[in-house]
Amino acid sequence: MSDASGVESARPNGDSERHPLAMETLVALCASRGFIFPSSEIYGGVNGFWDYGPLGVELKNNVKAAWWQRVVRERQDVVGIDSAIICHPRTWEASGHVEHFSDPMVDCRACKKRFRADQLDEAGKCSAREGSSEHDFTEARDFNLMLQTQIGASLDATTAAYLRPETCQSIFNDFKRVREAARQKIPFGIAQIGKAFRNEITPRNFTFRSREFEQAEMEFFCHPSEREQWFEHWKEERLRFHRDLGFSPENLRTRSHGEDELAHYAKAAVDVDFRFPFGWQEIEGIHDRGDWDLSRHSEFSGKDLSVTDEVRKERYTPMVIETSVGVDRTCLALLVNAYAEETLDGGDTRTVMRFQPALAPIKAAVLPLSKKLAEPARAVHSDLQRCFNAFYDESGNIGRRYRRQDEVGTPFCVTYDFDSNEDGRVTVRERDSMEQRRVPVEGIVSYLRDRLEVAL
Ligand code: ATP
Repeated sequence: MSDASGVESARPNGDSERHPLAMETLVALCASRGFIFPSSEIYGGVNGFWDYGPLGVELKNNVKAAWWQRVVRERQDVVGIDSAIICHPRTWEASGHVEHFSDPMVDCRACKKRFRADQLDEAGKCSAREGSSEHDFTEARDFNLMLQTQIGASLDATTAAYLRPETCQSIFNDFKRVREAARQKIPFGIAQIGKAFRNEITPRNFTFRSREFEQAEMEFFCHPSEREQWFEHWKEERLRFHRDLGFSPENLRTRSHGEDELAHYAKAAVDVDFRFPFGWQEIEGIHDRGDWDLSRHSEFSGKDLSVTDEVRKERYTPMVIETSVGVDRTCLALLVNAYAEETLDGGDTRTVMRFQPALAPIKAAVLPLSKKLAEPARAVHSDLQRCFNAFYDESGNIGRRYRRQDEVGTPFCVTYDFDSNEDGRVTVRERDSMEQRRVPVEGIVSYLRDRLEVAL
C-alpha cells in the first residue's frame, strides 16, 4: 500500500490557467474538519479508498437527494431502483467489460511502481535506479479494471464474480421487470445511485480517481426516431442541474466526443467538465448508447428485451440515452467551487465555504454567548434540529465560533445573548455577507427555513 493521500501538486492541465486553490489546502481542510479522509487511516490508508466524515456524509447525501429529486421525483417518466452490487457474472460478458474494460499498464522493473501507459509523462523519476533517474519500463499490457470476488465457499471458477464497475448494467438487467411493474411505456427512464468499483492503476487527485466511488446514473429508453431529441433534452437537463448546484459558469464546460473517442456502438457523447486545480476534468458523461446494451443482454440472457409499439405497430429494441455522474467527483468539485479565502476589514482573514444553502452540511449553528445561556440556546437548537441539520457550539469566543462555521460552509449562525432573555430575540448572522439581524425566537424556524428553501 502506497501513500494514501493520492494528491498531486497543482499541475496546470493543458488549457487551464493556474488555479487559485492548491489541492493540498483543500485536502488538509477536508481531513481536519471531517469532510473526507483516507480510509483506514490508522493503518496508513489504502490507496484509492476514502471515508466521508460527519460533514462529508451530509454534503454527499444532499447531492444525492438533489439528483434524486430532479431526475426521479420531479418526473413522471423516470423511476428509481436500488440493485445489488454483485450481478450475474454473465452481465459483464454481455456488457463487454470482461473483454474490453482495461487500461494499458506498464511496470518499472527497478522501483516496481505501476503506471498507466498512456500517462507516462506524469510518472516522475525512478527512486530505485542509481546513476539514472529514468524508469525501466516493461512492455505495456492490458489490465482489467474490474475488482473480482468469490461467491460462496467454493473456489470453483464459476463462482467468481465482480464488484460492479458501473451501476447501469443492472438497470439493463432489470429493464423488463421494472417497465412492467411500474407500468411505464417507452420513452421512460430508470435511475439509480450506488457504489461502483474500479481497480484503477493510478488512483489520484484526492477522490477524483478512486477505486470505490458512487455513481448516479439514469438510462432513458426511447424509440430510434427520437434518440437525437432525447440526447439534447438530457444534455440541457443535466447542465441545468450543474448550474443549479452553484458551479460558476467559468468553471463548467461541455465537451463533445470526437468520432475517434466514441465507443463503436455509440452515436454521440458529451462530457460535463469542471475546472479542478489539476485541470479541466469530467464529472458527468451523457451518452447515446444506441440499442447496444439491451441487444447484448437479450443475446446473452436469451430473454427478449425488445418492446411492442402499439401505435406504430412495430417491435423494436429501445435506444438508450445515458446520464452518468460521479457523486464523489461532484462533491469534490463542490468543495473546490465553494472554497474562498477572504481578508476582512481590520486585516483578519477567514476561510469560507460558499456552499449553496441546500447543499451545506450544516444549515444553522446555535451559539450561546455564554455557557450560562446554554439552556435556552439548547431549546432553540432542538427546535431547529427537527427541521434540518443544526449544530450546537458553546466553546470558545464568538468570533472563533463564527470562523469555524464559515470554514465548513454553515449559512446561518444563531447567537443567543443576554438580551435574548429580555427581548425574546436572537441574532442571525449570515455567512456570506456577515450581516447580523435580530429575529424573534418564536419565528426563528420559519425565518431560516424561508432562506434555506431557495431550492435547487
Ligand atoms: P475517466 O475517463 O475519468 O476514467 P470514465 O469516462 O471512465 O471516466 P464513466 O465510465 O463515463 O467514466 O463513468 C461515469 C462517471 O463516473 C464519471 O463521469 C465520473 O464522474 C465517475 N467515475 C468514473 N470513474 C471514477 C473513479 N475512478 N473515481 C471516481 N469517480 C469516477
